[in-house]
Amino acid sequence: MKTIAFPDGTQLPALGLGTWMMAETPARRAQEIAALREGIALGMVLIDTAEMYGEGEAERLVGEAMAGLRDQVFLVSKAYPQNASTSRLRRACEASLRRLGTDHLDLYLLHWRGNVPLAETVEAMEGLVAAGLIARWGVSNLDTDDMAELVAAGGDACATNQILYNLTRRGPECDLLPWLGRRSIPVMAYSPVEQGRLLGHRGLAEVAGRHQASTAQVALAWLLRQDGVLPIPKAGSVEHVRDNRVAADLVLSEADLADLERLFPRPAKRGPLEML
Ligand code: NAP
Repeated sequence: MKTIAFPDGTQLPALGLGTWMMAETPARRAQEIAALREGIALGMVLIDTAEMYGEGEAERLVGEAMAGLRDQVFLVSKAYPQNASTSRLRRACEASLRRLGTDHLDLYLLHWRGNVPLAETVEAMEGLVAAGLIARWGVSNLDTDDMAELVAAGGDACATNQILYNLTRRGPECDLLPWLGRRSIPVMAYSPVEQGRLLGHRGLAEVAGRHQASTAQVALAWLLRQDGVLPIPKAGSVEHVRDNRVAADLVLSEADLADLERLFPRPAKRGPLEML
């Protein structure tokens, strides 16, 4: 599978697994665990979760899914903004680790910007790296000016920015993606199929039909063709995980890309970064 590189040189398959809304319905639990395990087996080894998801229940589910497989997984979790301080971040991280049943995260993110100064969050994150609780840290939902402020506040070790980015949310192309690209900071594209709302689009279905592909595969392939972009679709069944994995092998033609450009044009000018 195509890979992306983190600034520290770590390479990773460019398609990962989301977990928001997992562990919400007991009847779906076994299916969700099976989906994550299938994803790992198929090489989608990055699992994205957060202390917010189900107030810790998604992390518990991920812990269960990783049983016996921790070494194969690149584990990402996120802290609430109010926990991203020097006095609270360590406790939040240790609670996540307990729920996940592991002794370290591969990547820990500030979920979105809150009231804690970015310089303090950087200090708290670096403290966790020094303590061996996390291998690296990054952010989520930070716009270009926030990123510039983060770097100026000593945050040049930031490993990623996880943002809302898909065919219908192309605002980041105006200046955030170029900014990150110049600094070799990869992007984790969340809600890559717009939480399912993209999948019934007729124009997208027409492009997919040319490849005997699904609309999800085309939406993911469109993201995956860009260097440094790592989509993290959430799939709650083995069937959907298998469908998404095929996207990494789907090559869109120039004609496909031109049609997608017409169907989902990039905004003419920059607006504020959208988030879900
Ligand atoms: P998403 O991945 O765009 O969409 C998930 C929805 O699409 C689910 O309903 C899923 O259904 C469906 N789906 C996935 N693959 C499919 C396929 N091949 N065929 C048909 N349906 C398919 O939305 P998301 O969950 O919002 O985003 C992905 C991940 O990004 C999250 O899970 C989370 O880890 C992360 N995220 C981060 C933030 C942030 O603020 N940092 C915000 C939102 C999301 P099934 O469940 O039935 O498979």
